[in-house]
Amino acid sequence: MAPTSCSLCRDAKAILKRPKTGQQICKNCFFFVFETEVHHTITESKLFKPGDRVAIGASGGKDSTVLAYVMKTLNERYNYGLDLFLLSIDEGITGYRDDSLETVKRNQQQYDMPLKILSYDELYGWTMDAIVEQIGKKNNCTFCGVFRRQALDRGAASLKVDHIVTGHNADDIAETVLMNIMRGDIARLGRCTSICTQGEDTIKRSKPFKYAYEKEIVMYAYFKKLDYFSTECIYSPDAYRGHARTFLKDLEAARPSAIIDIIHSGEAFEVKEEIKATQKAQQTCKRCGYMSSNDLCKACTLLEGLERGMANSVITDRARKKMDAIGPAPDNIRTIPLFRSTPTIAVELPSQS
Ligand code: SF4
Ligand code: ZN
Ligand code: ZN
Repeated sequence: MAPTSCSLCRDAKAILKRPKTGQQICKNCFFFVFETEVHHTITESKLFKPGDRVAIGASGGKDSTVLAYVMKTLNERYNYGLDLFLLSIDEGITGYRDDSLETVKRNQQQYDMPLKILSYDELYGWTMDAIVEQIGKKNNCTFCGVFRRQALDRGAASLKVDHIVTGHNADDIAETVLMNIMRGDIARLGRCTSICTQGEDTIKRSKPFKYAYEKEIVMYAYFKKLDYFSTECIYSPDAYRGHARTFLKDLEAARPSAIIDIIHSGEAFEVKEEIKATQKAQQTCKRCGYMSSNDLCKACTLLEGLERGMANSVITDRARKKMDAIGPAPDNIRTIPLFRSTPTIAVELPSQS
């Protein structure tokens, strides 16, 4: 049987079937359509302006490695005029993050971009290894997620960037839509499909891979022979997300457009004004100056729990009140340095007492 020719250029031999569309295409057409779709996502959402300093949240995994490569390619091809940086967070997970950071360091050389690494240890005085030693493997991802979010903003502030881009892909967003539906979290459901988020006091964040399928990202990395790290975190990832992921994979197997359809459904939801009104107003954390909807930001609350040996009690608001009832935070606990989104203040840790 004669080989199938590429359904886009009709010239070269088709060597792959696009997971998103089912088209049989050649390698070069795949690279081009994948990159062009990301370019359209960027331009239609007006994500950047010339002169922007943009940090790519880089973990060494496939999504962020492909994102760094594609951002560099598009920046050069379409003259976006961006200054690109790699920003990595070292959670302190032996046997996982230390190895993946070696990949990011190689990417720094391969893509010729400045790299900043900020560690939980440096910022919070705790590594994830030490946190798991205290709290076990149940709520570890809650700590890690809260600490990473703030660490990324602080790392970005120290790089004086205007914008952080992350490698969240279409599968991640569709999973989040499903999780918010299953939890009945309508306020989050209303926000989770936005390509770009910006709190008053935080640096703009966006997801240029919002419509890129995970399978295509893996394919792109494979055919481009990109250098990435593929091991999973040694601490069990969010179990609830795991259920949403399995469900989504089943839906995708039956109908590949399911992923994009779920995102479109999420985008089309209209959240009632009463629901929006239940969201707490943003203020700044009284202890560290980071944005917060309470007196203390989540990272300060979690850190206080760790420092007082009561970390498991700060996951919920009710438990937090119980901790407060025991007494105020002792003066000598470790706290997070003061945050300024205008990056003029050097980030320094208070001396440990
Ligand atoms: Fe952190 Fe959990 Fe992700 Fe591991 S799986 S890096 S602990 S959020
Ligand atoms: Zn082709
Ligand atoms: Zn705080």
